[in-house]
Amino acid sequence: RQAQYSALRDKPCVTRDGVKVDLHINAGLIIDLPHIDDTGSAGIGLFRTELQFMVGESLPRSSDQLQLYRAVLDAAGPKPVTFRTLDIGGDKALPYMETVVEENPALGWRAIRLGLDRPGLLRGQIRALLRAGGGRALRIMFPMISEVAEFDQAKAIIERELTYLRQHGHALPERIDVGTMIEVPALIYQLDELLKKVDFVSVGSNDLFQFLFAVDRGNSKVSDRFDTLSAPILRVLREIVQKGDAARRHVSLCGEMASQPIGALALVALGYRTLSLSATAHGPVKALILDLDAKKAEALMSKLLDAPSGSVSIRQKLTEFAEAE
Ligand code: PEP
Ligand code: MG
Repeated sequence: RQAQYSALRDKPCVTRDGVKVDLHINAGLIIDLPHIDDTGSAGIGLFRTELQFMVGESLPRSSDQLQLYRAVLDAAGPKPVTFRTLDIGGDKALPYMETVVEENPALGWRAIRLGLDRPGLLRGQIRALLRAGGGRALRIMFPMISEVAEFDQAKAIIERELTYLRQHGHALPERIDVGTMIEVPALIYQLDELLKKVDFVSVGSNDLFQFLFAVDRGNSKVSDRFDTLSAPILRVLREIVQKGDAARRHVSLCGEMASQPIGALALVALGYRTLSLSATAHGPVKALILDLDAKKAEALMSKLLDAPSGSVSIRQKLTEFAEAE
């Protein structure tokens, strides 16, 4: 199997009917970097910067952050890297930071909320990212944005740090794309405004589904109580990609759903053309895409979502389709 997947490494990732699907990998540590090339990925679609903060015994110094971000960009070379700013709090606690006991940590003081309330940390990180991106292209993405105003505030921090670096004679990135994750359902009802402001969005399906279904992703008693291949989820995902396409903004999905071949099939059938997945999933998902007829999958998906599906589940229908392909 592994050998079979390595043989696909240098093949362009296109479906049988010629639809290009870009597969990026999710990463967060130095040890992930060889996978950018050994999978043949299109780049890093989600770099989880909090991992550096979680593995250390104290807050990483800005020089350590800078060094990591430079190493990541060096390893990626011409391939794009999307750095997600710190997503700490909730279940991602830092052992050395004051812990706030929260009754609902997933809904609590985390990610961009913490970043905006304690901007010192976020500013320092953004400065390190901008310095690492000096002379090259840089992509920055914010986690857990729930209102457009939060995106504005976070983006203002980038502007402020750019001004600072310019005044101090640092080389600035040649181009900066700024985007947000879509993880909070409320943001879906602000897509029209949001898409005017962002360069790209990436669906964080792990958190988005947990909030859509009110099911704690970390609680095994409930975490599989919903089906990712069910109409409510697929309709939400379709709405996001359709709005993004209409606004000519780049849309990807970087949660676990993309790492499952049948999930990736559903996403291509919904119109997603960029997925970011774990490095280990890259081979199996690519094999599936090379075998897929995207137009047929899209037609099936429209039928399943727009006509009553009867007693057979969408998952079942998609599985049968994948097996027949
Ligand atoms: C997600 O929520 O889908 C996501 C990619 O972010 P994380 O899993 O790091 O919360
Ligand atoms: Mg998330």
